[in-house]
Amino acid sequence: MIPRVLPGAAIGILGSGQLGRMLALAARRMGYRVHTLSPDRDSPTAQVADVEVTAAYDDLDAVRAFARGVSVVTFEFENVPFATAEACAAIVPVRPRGAVLHTTQHRLREKGFLAGAGFPVPPFSAVRSAGDLEAALARVGLPAVLKTAAFGYDGKGQALVERPEQAASAWEALGRAEAIVEAFVDFDRELSVVAARGEDGAFADYGVFWNTHDRHILDLSVLPAPVPAVVAREAARLARAILDALDVVGVTCIELFLDKRGGLLVNELAPRPHNSGHLTVDAAVTSQFEQQLRAVCGLPLGSTELLRPAAMANLLGDLWAAGEPDWAAACALPDVKLHLYGKRAARPGRKMGHLTALAATPEEARARVLAARAALVRRT
Ligand code: AMP
Repeated sequence: MIPRVLPGAAIGILGSGQLGRMLALAARRMGYRVHTLSPDRDSPTAQVADVEVTAAYDDLDAVRAFARGVSVVTFEFENVPFATAEACAAIVPVRPRGAVLHTTQHRLREKGFLAGAGFPVPPFSAVRSAGDLEAALARVGLPAVLKTAAFGYDGKGQALVERPEQAASAWEALGRAEAIVEAFVDFDRELSVVAARGEDGAFADYGVFWNTHDRHILDLSVLPAPVPAVVAREAARLARAILDALDVVGVTCIELFLDKRGGLLVNELAPRPHNSGHLTVDAAVTSQFEQQLRAVCGLPLGSTELLRPAAMANLLGDLWAAGEPDWAAACALPDVKLHLYGKRAARPGRKMGHLTALAATPEEARARVLAARAALVRRT
């Protein structure tokens, strides 16, 4: 058992985006110091942290100096190189362990781990050469989704293959990088479970979120998801078993497909707080960020009780097309909370912030958050 990291100590965050920012806010509220390392300056995390280190992740001297200044290291972004996590681990505890990062930052390793441990995943096959591509498509069937094995997120590095003749050009477009071919799942809904596991194996989840995407980017999340109780129980059971099998300490999100027959398939794991869990900041007794902090510091997990049904809508840079959104209009709705990440450049597709709405039912929360987001758009 590693000693507890108590308030007053410094937490090191590898990565500096909005997830790090919200983790830092939770940490500072509880009296921790926060250091962040990434290649960026004036990042969303650094704006609310004590110390910003600007260095490349593979600058291991800078990484070691960073690790020496903190009591525990965690990451907010899975594409931190494994070697960076390992360099930190030689100096301070890294939670989750670098091995978890190694498994989940590569789609083939991740799917191999899940399938090998008996968890349900869509049929998949590895592609490392043009010859593999044909064999992989024959194995999983069409339509299929071709995804780069590494560095993919929000639908980047992926292509739908509907006819055999599209495969070669799709792989070409992905730079002929090592890839995975997965069967296309004609899902009924996309769901996620955000859960935490402590150093002692304690487990807590927030129930099942219903997620909808736009251009492969998360658009809306609703908690609780409108699914039968048996599906919610099975999703939570899968999450617990996956966190145990991964031996993860911290928050992990299990992204799931609910198929048309009511079966669940695991799409992806994210060993960190997740975009779908952002609504827990306003709607749960303990937010996913405080939960991450508690888990990585070896503190008891907090209650995941939901105070009211809630919905979250992402605010992408596209919303700035007609100028600064009308923040006052969203703030005029009393059960809606505005979160902005402090990013300066509002590029299309870039996650700039989100809104959370609370209501008496999940349906009302969903309608309310959509109305709030619509109110942001200025009429010209
Ligand atoms: P990913 O980066 O793997 O989470 O994919 C982003 C989004 O693409 C998912 O949330 C789905 O909406 C869609 N997607 C990914 N893989 C599949 C699949 N095998 N079948 C159907 N849709 C998929």
